[in-house]
Amino acid sequence: MITVEKAIQIISQNIKQSSCFEEVNVSEARNQVLFEDIKSPMDMPPFRQSAMDGYALNLHDIKQYELRGEIQAGDEAHPVLKKGEAFRIFTGAPVPDSANAIIMQEKTSQMNSGVLVHSQPLKSHNIREIGEQIKKGQVALPQGTKLNTASIAFLTTLGIIKVKVYKQPKIAIVVTGNELIEAGHSLMRGQIYESNAVMLINGLEQLGFKNIKKYKVVDNYDKTLTLLKRVISENNVVLISGGISVGDYDYVGKTLVEMNVQQLFYKVKQKPGKPLFFGMKKDTVVFALPGNPAASLTCFYVYVRYALELLLGNLNYSVSKTMALTTSNFTKKGDRAQFLKAVYKNGSVEILDGQSSSMLHTFAMSNALCYISEKGTSIKSGDLVETILLPIT
Ligand code: AMP
Ligand code: MG
Repeated sequence: MITVEKAIQIISQNIKQSSCFEEVNVSEARNQVLFEDIKSPMDMPPFRQSAMDGYALNLHDIKQYELRGEIQAGDEAHPVLKKGEAFRIFTGAPVPDSANAIIMQEKTSQMNSGVLVHSQPLKSHNIREIGEQIKKGQVALPQGTKLNTASIAFLTTLGIIKVKVYKQPKIAIVVTGNELIEAGHSLMRGQIYESNAVMLINGLEQLGFKNIKKYKVVDNYDKTLTLLKRVISENNVVLISGGISVGDYDYVGKTLVEMNVQQLFYKVKQKPGKPLFFGMKKDTVVFALPGNPAASLTCFYVYVRYALELLLGNLNYSVSKTMALTTSNFTKKGDRAQFLKAVYKNGSVEILDGQSSSMLHTFAMSNALCYISEKGTSIKSGDLVETILLPIT
């Protein structure tokens, strides 16, 4: 059995950054990761812009400027102002080269054919200079950036409509278990509703992955072998749920050995999620996650997400962590690290009751996982605890 830290290290050493990209529309690229640096094709702003509604001035040592006309946003006008002359101007409008400050209208009064400034503005005041935000040729966003609402808008302001992003890996989920029934059907005694596939697909979609395939297999050696052979050969990432523990009907481990999937680790000194498997078959990444839903989701957040971020070139990724003051007491038994479902708010964290690896109810109420390392022991109210913040939407 290896430690949590070692497991993370093995993942980072073995996941190779993908070299496949695709070109997509910027407007549809949310959550996709840039394959290469994006250089700005233009200066932004592309012309001197007024940052205010007010007056463009050719500064002079006088209080009353002569008003010569008006420039609106979108106008092409490029008048020449002499010293002591002003143009009415509006936010976003092009500032003539001969104007050297904008005074906001609240600091002026209109007088007949002139404008009275209450105080002289400083040079360049309220003018957005050419290239002030970014210059043509500068890196606008670096490779590895995961595009979000702001970055998509930013690229659009630069007139960029297509970008190269890492190609979506083909991801498949395989759930195992005779007892699993799809929600919507009635349950017989002994059966439960399958929730891990739904959970993992949601988690993956939240990270921006699409078209995830889902397979189900009963607890049968030959059927598991046949299905896993096919799925592993057809996909880049395969997440298997259940059947990886030591029960007589757990066939995943045995079939992965039969298929020569290279085992990189199996079993992590942690609770929940001890029977976690990570391996590779050629370039296909294989995780076998414990069937217990809360254990499975913990492993997804801590390990699978990390592997996927590395695959897509986000080499600086690590889970979002903070130190929080706990309001709870917790006694850790045994020598395994623990991920405890918890509620984090404003710097303090409450560890919830119901930490069993089968209990999704507690997970559904939590937004964080408190982490106690394998060497850690008890936690008392008032202690600072390492807390993983979950992406909870
Ligand atoms: P296993 O890892 O296959 O031994 O399963 C451990 C526990 O998780 C058992 O109680 C299973 O019924 C449950 N379980 C396994 N797979 C799923 C699934 N896909 N959805 C919900 N519960 C599951
Ligand atoms: Mg099972």
